[in-house]
Amino acid sequence: MRAPHRSAVTVAATLTALSLTTGIASAGQDGWGRPTPGSDGGGDSYYPQDGNGGYDVSDYNLKVTYAPDSHQLTGLQTVSARATQSLSSFNLDLKGLTVDSVKVNGLPAKFTRTGDHEVVITPRYPLIRGLPFRAVIAYHGVPEAINDPLLGKNGWQFTRSGGAFAAGEPKSATTWYPVNDTPRDKATFHLAITVPDEWGVIGNGREAGSYKTEAGTTHVWSEDTPAAPYMTTVAIDKWTFDRQQRADGTPIVSAFAPGTPDKTKQAEARLPEILDFLESKFGKYPVDAAGGIFLAEPIGFSLETLSRPIYSGRAGNISTIVHENAHQWYGDSVAVDHWRDVCLNECFASYATWLWAQEKEGQDLKKLYLDRVASAPDSFWAGKLYDMGPGNEFTYVYSKGPTALHALSKYMGQAAFDRVLKTWPALHRDGNASMQEFQHYAEAVSHKDLQGFFDAWIYGSGKPSAEYLYPGDLKPAAG
Ligand SMILES: [Zn+2]
Repeated sequence: MRAPHRSAVTVAATLTALSLTTGIASAGQDGWGRPTPGSDGGGDSYYPQDGNGGYDVSDYNLKVTYAPDSHQLTGLQTVSARATQSLSSFNLDLKGLTVDSVKVNGLPAKFTRTGDHEVVITPRYPLIRGLPFRAVIAYHGVPEAINDPLLGKNGWQFTRSGGAFAAGEPKSATTWYPVNDTPRDKATFHLAITVPDEWGVIGNGREAGSYKTEAGTTHVWSEDTPAAPYMTTVAIDKWTFDRQQRADGTPIVSAFAPGTPDKTKQAEARLPEILDFLESKFGKYPVDAAGGIFLAEPIGFSLETLSRPIYSGRAGNISTIVHENAHQWYGDSVAVDHWRDVCLNECFASYATWLWAQEKEGQDLKKLYLDRVASAPDSFWAGKLYDMGPGNEFTYVYSKGPTALHALSKYMGQAAFDRVLKTWPALHRDGNASMQEFQHYAEAVSHKDLQGFFDAWIYGSGKPSAEYLYPGDLKPAAG
C-alpha cells in the first residue's frame, strides 16, 4: 500500500484487548481427532476475528454476475480446502450479503451467520483431518465497503463512472466473496465475472478468455500464484487495455480508466524496465503475470494487489509504480505472518524507490539519508517499525522505514545486505514471514549480532544512538 496522505492515528486499545480471546483449536491426539468446531478467528494479534482455523484453502473458484446499474452482485463460490483438524463445523468470512445455500462435498450443509462477518457451516458429515473438502456457497446482495475509522474505506467500492472495484488492507475480499480472510491462508484465485457488454473487467493473474452469455459478457481471470485474500481484486469500468510481455514471456496487462493522463500511461509503459530493475535487486519475479489497474477515482491509497497493483487516480507516477511492484516480492509473495510485521512490506517497497532513484536518477543516497536524518522532526522518530498497534501500522513505515533499511545496509555491510535483499523473497516464496525471522536471516548472512540495531530502529522508538544512526560511511562530515 502507499498512502501518502494518511495522517498519524491513535492506537485502538480495544482491538488489542480482543487479541487475547482467540486461539486456534487443535486436534486431539487420538487418531484423526474428535471432530470439533474450527476456530472463528485466524489468530492475528490485531485482527483476531479475520480468517478462521481448522482448514487450509488451496483454491477459490468464483463465479460472479454484477449489475452496475443496481449494484447487485450474485455469486457462486467454490472453496477447495484441506481440513487441518477434524471439523464438526467451520467458518468462512463474509461481510454483509445474503447466503442462499451451502454444499460441502456435494451435500447440502447447514449454515448460520454470527458476529460481524462469520458464516458458520455445519457439513452433514464431519470433515476428517488431512482430507480435502469442497464447499460451494451461493450468495447475493449489494456489497458494501468497510469504513474503518482508522484505516479508511476498504473492500468493494463504487466509482463515479458507474463501475466498481475491490481493494483494501488489511481486508477487502470479505466484502464480495466468502473467504478465509487471513494473509496466512494463501490460495490460487479463479474468477469468472459476468457484466453487461458495455463494461470491461480486469482482475488478477492471466486473462483466460471471455464469452457471451445471456446476462452480458463473462470475463475469466486466472491467478495461479497463491494470493493472500486481500491481494485479490476485480475492477469494472470502461477500460483501455495495454498489453506487453516481459522478455521471459510473462504477460503484462494494464488497464486505464477513462480520463487517465498520458503521463500515467507513459509511466506504466516502463513496467518491463521496472520489473527488470526490481529483479536485479530482489531476485526472480515471483508472480505469473504483471500489469496495473489505473482507477480514475482519487482514493486514499494504491495497493499491491497480486500481479496487478491497483492505483488511485492521483498516484500514477513512476515512484508509486516502483513501490507497488516491489511489493510483489515484499508483501505479496512473502506476506506478513502477523500485521505487526507490516514493515516487511512497506519499509522494503519504500526503500525500492530509493534504490530506483539511485540507479535511474542519479540520487546520492548518502545525501538523501543524512538530509532526512538532519531535518527529521521528533515525530519522525516517535513510532516503532514493529508491532505499532492496530490502526497505526502505516504511520511510520513509509518515512522511518526506508531510512532504517539504508542504515541497516551500512551497519550489516553492503554486500551482505544486497544478498539478503535478493535471497529473502525466494526463501519464503508464496509464504509468510515475521520480522524476527528477517532479523535472524540478516544476522546469519552478515555474521553479525543485529539485536542492538533492530532494538534501536525497528522494535523501539526514539532517535537511535550515533552507533546505529551513522554506521559505516554514513558518518556526516565533521564541523
Ligand atoms: Zn506499500
